[in-house]
This record gives sequence, structure tokens and C-alpha cells, in this order.
Amino acid sequence: MLEELGIQPYINAHDTYTVYGGSRMGRDVLEAMREISEIFVDIYEVQRILGNRIAALTKNEGAYITNGAAGGLMLAAAVCMAKGSIFRYKNFPDTGKEADEVILLHCQHNAYDKAIESSGARIVKIGDSDETWDYELEGAISDKTAAVFYFVSSLYERASMPLEKVIKIAHEKEIPVVVDAAAQLPPVENFWKFTGMGADLVIFSGGKSLCGPQDSGVILGRRDLIEDCIRFGSPAHGICRSCKASKEAMAGLYAAIKAYMEKDQKKEYQRLYSMAVQAKTELDGVCRIQADVIENGPVGQTYPRTFLNLPFNISAEKLKDCMRKKHIYIGLEQEHILYISPLNLKQQELETVITALKSCLLESQEETL
Ligand SMILES: *Cc1c(COP(=O)(O)O)cnc(C)c1O
Repeated sequence: MLEELGIQPYINAHDTYTVYGGSRMGRDVLEAMREISEIFVDIYEVQRILGNRIAALTKNEGAYITNGAAGGLMLAAAVCMAKGSIFRYKNFPDTGKEADEVILLHCQHNAYDKAIESSGARIVKIGDSDETWDYELEGAISDKTAAVFYFVSSLYERASMPLEKVIKIAHEKEIPVVVDAAAQLPPVENFWKFTGMGADLVIFSGGKSLCGPQDSGVILGRRDLIEDCIRFGSPAHGICRSCKASKEAMAGLYAAIKAYMEKDQKKEYQRLYSMAVQAKTELDGVCRIQADVIENGPVGQTYPRTFLNLPFNISAEKLKDCMRKKHIYIGLEQEHILYISPLNLKQQELETVITALKSCLLESQEETL
């Protein structure tokens, strides 16, 4: 079918991105989706049963399945602003300017902030791109505050306040803390680490390294807030109706989380590591490339990647474009640094990536001669 339609398959040696189609769903996930697609259900009952199972698997009080981490951010913001009132919720995004402020760390401000604002919340930023101080959070909290949102990422660590401190200050004033950990897997322990630290809600994407449906995500955390997610979220009418997860996405996400929990994490790391080492070994020294394996994903996850330090006469951008023309996505780190991530590669695809990269390198060398 794909050939007939002219849909071009790509190889993903970069990372899980929605524009590349996310990740690959496993057989268990597809089977769960197929099975539930055959029947009609009570969607609230399915949400509760699967939510309870996911909560138990991930060592949390409660879980709510949504259509993605972005949808999760919107619903979490709405739940924190509504404070249990269905009347208030139904008026969103009109908040009447009551308790509708969401505090963010300026250094964590990113493209997904819009998902919070789409609930009607108003974002109040604290700190700057270099540092964030206790007194800034303490001073920003008022009776207008609905929640503090915190984005976990190694990219923001330097200027951020540690999550423990944010939780302590916010909880002293009875303000909930919502953590966006959309891409923070592996390690699997992150499923319970942030809630264990006291975060009220934590959000994960289903379509990244979990390899669930691309249009799925999960909110984990406090039982009472998860109850409000069930009350206010889809299929209920209101702004979060647009965050609808189908029964297939729900069943698929559950199957993906179950498979993820059952996976031997050490073995999986070894599998990825040996691919990263193969890329390093085969590319190191080619056209004076210096290749290294580093042990972290782009936002601090625990999976390996192969970094390619290019000589100064080769542009990373040009090499990336050359690979793109061969229908292969690779990562660009800096002007002269590229990387290959094994996360979404099959062994056979890795061979293709290495061969294509060698051929692009020769092309670029001919150009500079
Ligand atoms: C990917 C990502 C999201 C969005 O996840 P979806 O499941 O695609 O909606 C939100 N926040 C962060 C930090 C992300 O990395």
C-alpha cells in the first residue's frame, strides 16, 4: 500500500520526533489495539481499569491516559486551575482571571509552554537564563497561583532550581507541582522518581522511547488530581475534549508500558551500546572523523549515541542534508558535530546508515578539493 501511495520510508538515526513519525510500536502494542478495536466499551471504565494497572506498574497512586504529553500538559493545567470545580472547568479557557497563573522557570521556557497556555492559564516566569533563586519562586506564589510546572531536562540543569527545592517551596504554600518528563525514559525509574520526590503530577509521552501509539501519553500522580483528570478530560465536554485518546491508543499505551516494564533494561542498553560502538569503530578515522560513544540521550536519558567530530573543512549541515537526500535522518549537534542514535535503528538499518555516511563524506570531500 505504501509503495502504491508513494509514501517514502525513512531511516531514523536521529531521535524520536513527531515529524519523523515517532517510534515503532511493538507487536504486543499493535495486538492490544487490534483486539480492542473489535469491541465497544464504556470508555470511563477502560480509562479506570487501564489507569489503575498503569499506576500499579509505575508505582504511582493514579494514572490517566491522554493523547500525548502536550495534551497532558493542557489537562494538568486545567485540573490545577479548576480545583475540583466542574463549573470553573467548563468556562475555560475563560478563567475569569482567578487563580489562573502557572509558574515556570524562565530557563525551562520551551515550545510546549503553549500547551499549558491553551487551557487558559497565564504563564508567570521566574529567574533568567543563567539562574533561578528561592526568593523568586517564593515571591511569585500568590492567591492567583494555580501550579508550578517543571520541565526535566539536562539542557536546563545549570540555570534551574533543583526539583526538590521547587517542590518544598511550592508545597509550603500548598501549590501543586507538575513535572513534564515527556522524553525522560530511560531510565525506567523515572516513572516513580519524580512522584517519589513529591511531585503532584508527572507527564510522559507514549510515542517516544515507550514505543506506544504516537498519539498517547500518560499523567501519573496524586489520586485526587487523577480523579479530576478523569472527570474533566475527554470524553467530557470542555476544552480538553480535544485531547481525546481513542480506546485503541489507551490499550496500546498500556501494552507499551507493560512491555517496557518487563524489558531487561541492562540488556537493552547493551544492545544499543554495541550498535553505537559499531558506528564508532566503522567511522572513526574516515575522512579524519573522530568518533566517540557518549552515554546520554539529547535531554539526559540513559541511552548511548555516537558523536562524529568532523574536520573543519566538512560542514555538519551539508552532511546532514546529504543523508536526508538518501532518506536518512541523523542528529546535528554543532557546526562540525553530528551524531547517530541507535534508539530507533534496526541492525540492518545501521549498516545502511554507515554506508550512506561514508558515501556522503566522500562526496563532501570531492567538493572541497
Ligand atoms: C515530546 C515532548 C512533549 C510532547 O509530547 P507528545 O507526546 O508528542 O505530545 C512535551 N514536552 C516535552 C519536554 C517533550 O520532549
